[in-house]
Amino acid sequence: MDLDLGPEIEAFRGEARSWIGANAPEGLAELTDWTLGYTPGGYPRADVSAAMAHPKYAQWEARLASARLICPGWPAEFGGQGMDGVRLAVLDEEFHAAGVPRVRRGMGESLVGPSIIVHGTDAQRAYFLPRIICGEDVYCQGFSEPDHGSDLAGVQTRAEVDGDEVVVTGTKVWTSYAARANMMFALCRSDPGAPKHAGLSFVLLPFTDPKVSYRPIRQMSGAEEFCEDFIDGVRVPLFNVIGGLNNGWRVAMTTLGHERGGAAIVSHLNYEREFWELVEAARKNGKTADPLVRQELARAYTGVAAMRFTGLRSLASMAAAGPAGQPGPEASVAKLMWSEYHKRFGEIAIGIAGADALVRPDGPGYPTTGWQNVFLGSRAGTIFSGTSEIQRGIIGERALGLPKEPSANSPRQPSTIKPSFGKGAGPA
Ligand SMILES: Cc1cc2nc3c(=O)[nH]c(=O)nc-3n(C[C@H](O)[C@H](O)[C@H](O)COP(=O)(O)OP(=O)(O)OC[C@H]3O[C@@H](n4cnc5c(N)ncnc54)[C@H](O)[C@@H]3O)c2cc1C
Repeated sequence: MDLDLGPEIEAFRGEARSWIGANAPEGLAELTDWTLGYTPGGYPRADVSAAMAHPKYAQWEARLASARLICPGWPAEFGGQGMDGVRLAVLDEEFHAAGVPRVRRGMGESLVGPSIIVHGTDAQRAYFLPRIICGEDVYCQGFSEPDHGSDLAGVQTRAEVDGDEVVVTGTKVWTSYAARANMMFALCRSDPGAPKHAGLSFVLLPFTDPKVSYRPIRQMSGAEEFCEDFIDGVRVPLFNVIGGLNNGWRVAMTTLGHERGGAAIVSHLNYEREFWELVEAARKNGKTADPLVRQELARAYTGVAAMRFTGLRSLASMAAAGPAGQPGPEASVAKLMWSEYHKRFGEIAIGIAGADALVRPDGPGYPTTGWQNVFLGSRAGTIFSGTSEIQRGIIGERALGLPKEPSANSPRQPSTIKPSFGKGAGPA
């Protein structure tokens, strides 16, 4: 996609392209197709794991690190380059075009790091951020619990202060990529007597501690990428509480803002690519002559374009807010848009694949085709990072300023709505 982003950004694009050309180890792009998702349908791709174990990958990683191109969106004083969303998007495009990996640090880069940058002390930033950049600390997200998902402020995992330590005990669930993590950022209850939003703390805990165990949960794709975790009295220093004791809700809101809106600026790039792959598939099986298919594809493309403009809008509001700008409630618009779009896109893809989509390929385990992965995987998008209903609530109340929806706990207000029917117009 060509965006006219002005001469400064075009110069940046040229620099990025030449840097990649000069530094990407020869043969790196040929090790695997880095431009596809690494975990389709929740299954890690074996070819990507093998390619990441190759010395050329380590060489590339080291070159990116010395050029500060790992976590490049983080401010320069914390090891990044302070790249804004436009530059990050351009950089992603250039990596993509060269067929080389971007080398991301997962939730460490996108969620915990930005939260530590905003709410951590200087000592916490100095300790935790470099460990994310070098790949030593790999995080998973311990927010949801068996009885607390949407009602995140109700979490019950305890963080009890004991001298200069906190002792964490509880159960977390739906923890993506838990098996790969050695650290968890967990939202815990540190003051059970305080109102629920006020008694929480954001704790970084070692996930490899012998007092942590977990069990994988099988998803409908057959993959088992997320887990239920049992934390039984893990001790961490108070130093590992980010944002201060009982201030965890504010930190969690920063995390969720990044989770919902962070990728919105560039998300259309992958969706556009996937869209054209589907058009190609439709051409191959002769479906592009079908007016209903054409209509669905046109609708999907409208969705991609809308995501692009929503991303640009998020970018404009972050740029206007300056370096300390964080995604606000408009992040929910982006999250709602991409997740609902992708669920619909998965249905269109399955329709185009036709009867073939009903049959899983032969092979060991429980293999799925690419379009089956899109269909099955996209259904989770309207659940994780806050369901679509929760996003609509945030947009209504926090972005549009509509009156708060009454909850089961709020006192009943007498209705102010007057019946519009006159005498005799209602039921007898
Ligand atoms: C693939 C996947 C990966 C995930 N990864 C992680 C992870 O890494 N870490 C983590 O902590 N969590 C993770 N989650 C959990 C996810 O955040 C929760 O599933 C989600 O917040 C919903 O919570 P719940 O499942 O408890 O559903 P509930 O909160 O019980 O919701 C059930 C239904 O009620 C609706 N509902 C609830 N409250 C309201 C309301 N106030 N207004 C209107 N409707 C409402 C919901 O929209 C939903 O339809 C993941 C989930 C999935 C599917």
